[in-house]
Amino acid sequence: MRTGVDLGQQETPLSNSLPQAGERTNVKGNLQISGLYTQLMERATGLPNDELFAQMICSQVGGACALPPCLGLEEADFAALLTRHFPRMQIVVRGQRDSDDGRAPERDDVLALLLEHRAGRDESESWMAEIVTAACMANDHLWQDLGLWSRKYLSQLMTQNFPALAAKNSKDMKWKKFLYKQLCEKEEIRICRAPSCEVCADYQKCFGPEE
Ligand code: SF4
Repeated sequence: MRTGVDLGQQETPLSNSLPQAGERTNVKGNLQISGLYTQLMERATGLPNDELFAQMICSQVGGACALPPCLGLEEADFAALLTRHFPRMQIVVRGQRDSDDGRAPERDDVLALLLEHRAGRDESESWMAEIVTAACMANDHLWQDLGLWSRKYLSQLMTQNFPALAAKNSKDMKWKKFLYKQLCEKEEIRICRAPSCEVCADYQKCFGPEE
């Protein structure tokens, strides 16, 4: 099910914060989405996650992410997110998260891992944990599934919201691989065939470019 969004009257001024060269291009150049991003950021409350949520919302409107409707949140939580981060922004979302959501067996474990590592600075960390979990159930790189404009914003998201967890990724492993590896280690399941990453034939799969 896709999200329908009534954007209302749109202006289309471009913002300096729009994706730059080398960042995701399927949102860049779309003036309607550019206008939405500008409107969101004009109404943003100045909280650390504002820009990240604005990118996700724009990508979802533009069909450029893998998140379910409402970014994978319950409708009431999505409304609360909008109120907290973009209080004067009216976005009418049509469509709801499917009840079973195609839930993968590991979904609750991913969510628990993220919640366990919340920074504890802002309530939006819980929404972010839900959203990242929803994106983990999709098949692309995590930053793409989230609708972020480049991988650097995902690193920012992880550091801001789950700093202790982000700090464990000291070798800059691909984020989705990293999260799943944490789950395996927690359960003391050893899936890696090599004794260390440095001598592993799958090194590129875990640490190669994530673009
Ligand atoms: S590089 Fe190899 S050893 Fe390291 S996490 Fe990936 S699969 Fe495991």
